[in-house]
Amino acid sequence: MTEDLNSIVVAVDGTSGSGKSSACRGVAERLGLRYLDTGAMFRAVTWWMLRHGVDIHDQDAVADHMRQMVLASGTDPTGPTIAVDGVDVSAAIRTDEVTRAVSPVSVVPEVRRRLLDLQRQIIGDGGIVVEGRDIGSVVWPQAEVKAYLTADPAARAARRALEEGGSDVVATEQVLRERDRIDSGRATAPLVQADGAVHVDTTPFTLDEVISLLVGLVEQALEPAS
Ligand code: C5P
Repeated sequence: MTEDLNSIVVAVDGTSGSGKSSACRGVAERLGLRYLDTGAMFRAVTWWMLRHGVDIHDQDAVADHMRQMVLASGTDPTGPTIAVDGVDVSAAIRTDEVTRAVSPVSVVPEVRRRLLDLQRQIIGDGGIVVEGRDIGSVVWPQAEVKAYLTADPAARAARRALEEGGSDVVATEQVLRERDRIDSGRATAPLVQADGAVHVDTTPFTLDEVISLLVGLVEQALEPAS
């Protein structure tokens, strides 16, 4: 069956700092697709909880408050946005405080359930690149293209520290490893390589090379079966 670019779903999961975001935005831009950063949704929920003084380790409190916020994700890959209750939090969700708190919040089943509904609504009729931890396994297992991105932890830390303006590489590596540990070990929708996902270790590749590799997977999926 020939897939159609307008309805295709490209599901990209992987570890923290594996270069998913930049690669997915690049793929969406090259192919004229929409882009959804599901991590930004979990970060926005976390930002809201911190802002409202909710104890992020109290799962009942987090679940209760989850019902009170309105999230809106913009899917333009050249300028993705995320707003909570009408406030643009695109920059606020990238602070260290949110980064350290996001994995414990993402463990809460009610948070995942609410975001799963929203994510599926946004994916809708497809034509989108979606990145996260459970896209190919839980959110959209029927995705036409699935990839699982990882990278060497030290390389990831160096890359992330550079992005964050020269922060401490050792501390950055510890935070990345801790997030991966929680994300992979949780009961609901843990980080896994989904069935049918192509594993890409991005360590030796430039961003452009990773984008080309993923675009190649999409082109393969679009080719008529011979
Ligand atoms: O991708 P990013 O690093 O911004 O994601 C932040 C956090 O959101 C992850 O560490 C994970 O805890 C959570 N997340 C998730 N499921 C997704 C996307 C992100 O649990 N699909």
